[in-house]
Amino acid sequence: MTVISENPAPKISFVSLGCPKALVDSERIITKLRAEGYELSRTHDGADLVIVNTCGFLDSAKAESLEAIGTAMKENGRVIVTGCMGAEPEQIMRDYPNVLAITGPQAYESVMNAVHLAAPPKHDPFLDLVPEQGIKLTPRHYAYLKISEGCNNRCSFCIIPKLRGDLVSRSASDVLREAEKLVKSGVKELLVISQDTSAYGVDIKYAESLWQDRSVRAKFYDLAKELGSLGAWTRLHYVYPYPHVDQVIELMAEGTVLPYLDIPFQHASPSVLKSMKRPAHIEKTLERIHKWRNICPDLGIRSTFIVGFPGETEDDFQILLDWLDEAKLERVGCFKYEPVRGAPANDLGLELVSEDVKQHRYNRLMERQQAVSARVLKARIGKRLQVIIDQIGLKGSEGSAVAKGRTKWDAPEIDGNVFVSSKRPLRVGDIVTAKITSSDKYDLNGMVV
Ligand code: SF4
Repeated sequence: MTVISENPAPKISFVSLGCPKALVDSERIITKLRAEGYELSRTHDGADLVIVNTCGFLDSAKAESLEAIGTAMKENGRVIVTGCMGAEPEQIMRDYPNVLAITGPQAYESVMNAVHLAAPPKHDPFLDLVPEQGIKLTPRHYAYLKISEGCNNRCSFCIIPKLRGDLVSRSASDVLREAEKLVKSGVKELLVISQDTSAYGVDIKYAESLWQDRSVRAKFYDLAKELGSLGAWTRLHYVYPYPHVDQVIELMAEGTVLPYLDIPFQHASPSVLKSMKRPAHIEKTLERIHKWRNICPDLGIRSTFIVGFPGETEDDFQILLDWLDEAKLERVGCFKYEPVRGAPANDLGLELVSEDVKQHRYNRLMERQQAVSARVLKARIGKRLQVIIDQIGLKGSEGSAVAKGRTKWDAPEIDGNVFVSSKRPLRVGDIVTAKITSSDKYDLNGMVV
C-alpha cells in the first residue's frame, strides 16, 4: 500500500558559506530543521525557502555571500539570511530588500522562528528524523567540534569580536558528550575549533563539570586529554602560543592527541605584530617552537600569514621570510591583506601597501615555503605512516585503484593529501599504514602495507 501524504514536509535549500565555525552553525541549524520534520532540497528551485548562512569576514567573503543571496532570490525568491553578515543587515537590505528575515551568527532560535513563520513545520509526532548524533555536513569520518564562541582578543584586522562578542566557552562535559556521540556514530577524527582554542575556559574560570565518573576542568589541557582518550584522532586548530600550550605538546608526544598544531602566527616582524595587536608575543616564538620540537620531535605545525598589512616595510617582510626559514613550518597558508569594513586596522593611519607589492610578497613567501614543504615531504619517503582514508575509487597510473587520504600532519581541506594504492579494498574512514614512495610540493604517494 502506498501512503500519499496530504501534507508533505516543507523543503529547505541550504547554502553554507565561510569557515569551519560557520559550518558547525549550519550543522546545528540543519539538525534542528530535520528534528522538526523539514526536508532538505538539493536545489533552490522547488524548495519552500532557502537559508543562506553567510560569511562576513573579508570583503571578498561578503561579496560571495551577497552573490549567494542574489542567486537564491532569483531561483527561489523566499530567502532567510543568517551568519556573520547578518550582524550587519544594512548591506543585505540595500541589495535585497525582499529577503524574508536576517539573523546574526549563532542565532539558531531566530533562524528557526523565521523558518516557522515562512514555512510552518509538518506535524508528525511519530517520527524522529534525527539520528542521535545530529546531521553532519562534513563526511561521516571526521567532524568539527566547536568548544567556544567569540574572542577576547582584539586583533586590529579582525571584526570577529564585534560580530560574535567576547569568548563564551561550553562546559567540558557538554563538549565531551558531543564528542563521545560523534565517535560512537563512526567519526574517526575530531577537529577542535574555536576562535582561540588555547583560551578555552578563561571566561568560565575553568569551571569543573561532571563527565562520566569525574570532574573535568574547562581547560585546554584537560579537555584535550579527555578528547584524546575517546579513541578518535583529535586535531587542535587555532591555538595561540601561550605558555600552557607546552603541556599540550606533551599529550602529542605521548600520542593522546595528534602531533599537529594549527597556530595562526600571521607575521613575524615585531612592529607589524604590534600594529596587528596579536595575542602572545612572537619574539620568543622561535625558541618555543624549538622547545616544542624537543618535547615532540614528530610535531607538525601549520600556520597562516598575512602579507601587505598597512605599514609593512620590505625589512618587515624580510624578517618574516627569515623567520620562516628558521621555523621550518610544515604547512603554511598566506593571505594578501584586505581591509575589512569596521576593523580598527583601517584607522591606524599606516601607509597602505600597493596591490603589486602585496602580490610580489605573496609570491616570494609561497615560493620560499614551497621549498621548505617539499623538503619536509621528501624526508617522509620510505617511512611507514598512518593514513586516514577520505576518498576511494580514484584511478592511478596504469589503471590501478587509488585512494586519497591524509597523514596525522594534514587537516582536511587545508593541508596536503596522500594518494595510496592498495591491494585490498579500502573504506572511507579507514586508518591504514602506508609506505611512502614519492612526494611533490604538497602531497605524498604511497602503498598500503
Ligand atoms: S584572535 Fe584575533 S583574529 Fe582571531 S578571532 Fe580573535 S580577534 Fe579575530
